[in-house]
Amino acid sequence: MVDPLHSRAGELDAADPLAPFRERFVFADDLLYLDGNSLGRLPVATRERLRRAVEVEWGTGLIRSWDSWIDLAREAGDTLATGVLDASPGEVIVTDSTSVNLYKLASAALDARPGRRVIVVEDDNFPTDRYVLEGLAKARGLELRTVAVHIDHGVQVEDLTGVLDSDVALVCLSHVAYRSGARADMPAITEAVHQVGALMLWDLCHAAGAVPTPLHVSGADLAVGCTYKYLNAGPGAPAYVYVKADLQTSITQPIWGWFGQRDQFAMGPDYEPAAGIQQFMVGSPQIFGLMAVIEGARITAEAGIEAIAAKGAALTTYAIELFDEWIAPHGWALATPREAKQRGAHVTVHHPAAWQVTQALKDAGVIPDFRTPDRLRIGFAPLYTRFEDVHEGFTRLRTIIESGSWQGYSTARSRIT
Ligand SMILES: *Cc1c(COP(=O)(O)O)cnc(C)c1O
Repeated sequence: MVDPLHSRAGELDAADPLAPFRERFVFADDLLYLDGNSLGRLPVATRERLRRAVEVEWGTGLIRSWDSWIDLAREAGDTLATGVLDASPGEVIVTDSTSVNLYKLASAALDARPGRRVIVVEDDNFPTDRYVLEGLAKARGLELRTVAVHIDHGVQVEDLTGVLDSDVALVCLSHVAYRSGARADMPAITEAVHQVGALMLWDLCHAAGAVPTPLHVSGADLAVGCTYKYLNAGPGAPAYVYVKADLQTSITQPIWGWFGQRDQFAMGPDYEPAAGIQQFMVGSPQIFGLMAVIEGARITAEAGIEAIAAKGAALTTYAIELFDEWIAPHGWALATPREAKQRGAHVTVHHPAAWQVTQALKDAGVIPDFRTPDRLRIGFAPLYTRFEDVHEGFTRLRTIIESGSWQGYSTARSRIT
């Protein structure tokens, strides 16, 4: 029996201009990995570069290798700026974690808007973003104004009506929502924030490497994001900071370290911030992580973010079609926008049994993840996910749901979901 949905997977794969990029990644077995939105796959080039770096650059070069390591954070930043994010060389640097960078930029933004007493965040923003801002508001005696947003639709510009006023210093939102995958309208929201004279800080974690991030087009002031999701730089790889060029001379970040110092090896008595994006560094960079960021960003840049976004839209559209056909009739609901332009590259579905079904899927060789309260989140990293994989993943999901085999799994959640 010919399944037209399955034939289409074959046609879509055959016509996929990004199909050759799959070979750039390490595949140890036939695992159906649909969690590249949490931790991307290992690129072959990264494995080779890190091997060399460990054995030769560290193993034999030792301290002498710093000559070639010292500017890697800038190189990684420029690669991201020009090839992945909509930014210019010198506007992005790779350093620290997203959480720490968020603190640095939010703090700098608050200092740049003295007298204003409000930070705006969405209630469904990623926890670390909310916690960092909560801590900053508390330490400075400011108001954290939390906007209620629908967890499946993400933040809309209308949600900010009545929230933005001349007391707002900073607004911090995610471009693509981590749970639903809903994509915010960056230009419209940034414009609304600028109308009240506030600064706009975007978290690009679930967007960069999946969809275009129109930083220049929107006039966004600041952004942060991680590199281990769609950018494939590996667990704990350093994150990036974006600071719009014309803002770099007027803001100062709060953690004064020697890597942000103008003349680092003068070892002088006082801190004087380095010019440009360099001041957003703090201490010794994580060299192996930077190399992995450069390799990951290069692959994304080579494929092109527009082509990646087009494939992400096609993969998620196909996934939603399979969901509607096979899964929705069993009482499951879609928790991701149906309009491709309003989402990133993952699809989330919900049902009270989502946790148990997630565990059953893992045992069936499919790796998605689970997010509270009852969401099964399925990521389709466009560089290495085939339409055939989507079909096979949903076939196994359908079997688990139709057979009821998930009922044999405990409802108790593990430490990491
Ligand atoms: C993944 C993610 C983070 C992670 O922050 P870390 O400091 O790298 O742990 C932050 N914000 C968002 C929106 C994320 O999706």
